[in-house]
Amino acid sequence: MISLKEQVSKVRSGETQAEAVVKEALNQIGKTQHLKAYLSVLPEYALEKARALDGRREKGEALGPLAGVPIAIKDNIVVSSGKTTCASRILENFQSPYDATVVERLLAAGAIPVGKTNLDEFAMGATSETSAFGAPINPLDPTVIPGGSSGGSAVAVASGSVPVSLGSDTGGSIRQPAACCGIVGMKPTYGRVSRYGLVAYASSLDQIGPFAHTVADAALLLNVIAGHDKHDNTSSTQEVPDFTAGIGKGLKGKSIGIPKECFGEGLDPEVESVIRAALAACEREGAKIVEVSLPSLKYAVATYYVIATAEASANLSRYDGVRYTTRTQSPKNLYELYAKTRSEGFGAEVKKRILLGTYVLSSGFYDAYYMQAQKVRRVITDDYANAFKQCDVVAMPTLATPTPKVGKVFQDPMAMYLQDIYTVAVNLAGLPGLSLPAGKVAGLPTGLQLIGRPFAEQELFQVSDAVEKLVAM
Ligand code: GLN
Repeated sequence: MISLKEQVSKVRSGETQAEAVVKEALNQIGKTQHLKAYLSVLPEYALEKARALDGRREKGEALGPLAGVPIAIKDNIVVSSGKTTCASRILENFQSPYDATVVERLLAAGAIPVGKTNLDEFAMGATSETSAFGAPINPLDPTVIPGGSSGGSAVAVASGSVPVSLGSDTGGSIRQPAACCGIVGMKPTYGRVSRYGLVAYASSLDQIGPFAHTVADAALLLNVIAGHDKHDNTSSTQEVPDFTAGIGKGLKGKSIGIPKECFGEGLDPEVESVIRAALAACEREGAKIVEVSLPSLKYAVATYYVIATAEASANLSRYDGVRYTTRTQSPKNLYELYAKTRSEGFGAEVKKRILLGTYVLSSGFYDAYYMQAQKVRRVITDDYANAFKQCDVVAMPTLATPTPKVGKVFQDPMAMYLQDIYTVAVNLAGLPGLSLPAGKVAGLPTGLQLIGRPFAEQELFQVSDAVEKLVAM
């Protein structure tokens, strides 16, 4: 497969027309329609952008670092063309008047959004099955989940309609579908990428990030979308280095921490042996493997589901039938307008989370749940900081089990929340995390998760790229 960099250089030199690349992407979207990766496709918009790009090249203008790259955008990130639904009935016909900052940056770099991808409703889920418009299908095996919540973005890349896509990750929603679909998915440090135009789920945890076939391609995409944005006060003013600078530099001198808590009870033995084999290969290649400890990890899922639902209950209060939303028919009064719109518009999982979040924030319970969760969040962050005194990156599986069968996790709420055991702590601590395919279990890929220090994405990409080459399947 040709790298994104090579593909871009062909468009920049004129060897390939952006229009032809986009046509091919649209063609493949059509052929893979049954996978339900996309909630909407933007053919006219994308072809117009592609022609404009080709026209600029013909005039001798220099094109950007993602010239002519067709890209799929998770449907909770706003694009000023077409709809943004968050896979919810309540936003079924919502059209954004503006582009998210990441979309503006993609367009400025020459990338071309071709469609909006399917997801769990409002990104709440780990399987993509809470989508109000039908779940996307894993192209590797239709009987297993594609992962969630950014399942459509992972399926779009894995099924070859686009080389890269954007997802969002609040507690694992980029890393988990990447693991299930056998591709690379990366969640940047909290604040690395602007959230302006990302429909908020849990604002202190949400981050936009790339999906790609390779670590190098993901790094190239992050180069374009990262950096401070005056529209998002939580976006960092830290300098943005070239994230591809460490690609090809190998593992020498790098230390990889293995948290002992991640390799005990609950981890499938076959997944464990794939992960251990990948780490042994790293050691042979010159990396130092050290055991580290994250004692608070066992509280991460509980902590996450208090904080994420609390923030969600506040964020989702804006869908009131007055602004943004599909409105209930003939309400008798204002209260009924709100109540019926929300009852009819939200799916069961979203309602469950609004109720839980409202409960943990209510007076009398606030101290016992929300405040307590904030304190544990701090302990989790400190545990990671301690681990990083001994190593450069931390490694663990992305998922504890082989890719689950469709329906299995979704029907069991406890199983659904436990799916997040290895991923949510990374969001609570605001760290960058990446999942890459590490090997196969029962014929399907399983993900290795690598986690870096805050804002050390360059190093995380360097190590991940080296590991990717070692475990190449
Ligand atoms: N599975 C987690 C949840 O349902 C994470 C989702 C996400 O990262 N958006 O909250």
